[in-house]
Amino acid sequence: MQGLLFQENELPSEAAGEEKTPSTLHSLYVRSGTCTKCRLASTRTNFVFGEGNPDARLVVIGEAPGADEDALGRPFVGRSGQLLDKILQAVQFRREEVFICNILKCRPPQNRNPLQDEIASCLPWLQQQLELIDPGMLLLLGRVAANTLLDNNLSMGAMRGKIIGWKKYDCVVTYHPAALLRNPNWKRGCWEDVQLMRRHYDTLQGKKSDSQP
Ligand code: URA
Repeated sequence: MQGLLFQENELPSEAAGEEKTPSTLHSLYVRSGTCTKCRLASTRTNFVFGEGNPDARLVVIGEAPGADEDALGRPFVGRSGQLLDKILQAVQFRREEVFICNILKCRPPQNRNPLQDEIASCLPWLQQQLELIDPGMLLLLGRVAANTLLDNNLSMGAMRGKIIGWKKYDCVVTYHPAALLRNPNWKRGCWEDVQLMRRHYDTLQGKKSDSQP
């Protein structure tokens, strides 16, 4: 009967055996990996979904993959990634403990800034990631990530140094590691931001375990 209505490649996703909305991070990974919603699909080597703990209480969000990330299909693996690992370690987080991803899942050519239509196409993937992981906290790296998610146009100075509530998440904004590589004198501020993040994270975890029987 279906055969009369649809060609094989025109089957609605449920009829083709796919869930309408992916219900696990793995099924979202599979679904998103073939995305062609924007022009970056034609220039990417790999779709960079993100990686880490699917039950992370902290999700770290950067801007977009660079050349190393595009080549390997993994987020934050180049110089910025090495610095990010050190930043996380400085406040006792292992990379595997958190989930690391970006606003854009594909590399913009020459690492140019993401364009608005690319962000609009890509954001639903991040929103679904957050729904499935359901972390308590987000660490937003740099102004592009922070302005995009918090939907504002504020400066870094106006967003750093505090916990910002967005949807059901508590967010901390700090400098992007690439900016820290260019401006090492901002590292102290980043250190203060991630300490604030750690304290708040521990408070949230403590509250959670207090409320458990
Ligand atoms: N910069 C980003 O914003 N994300 C990466 O994954 C790598 C560099």
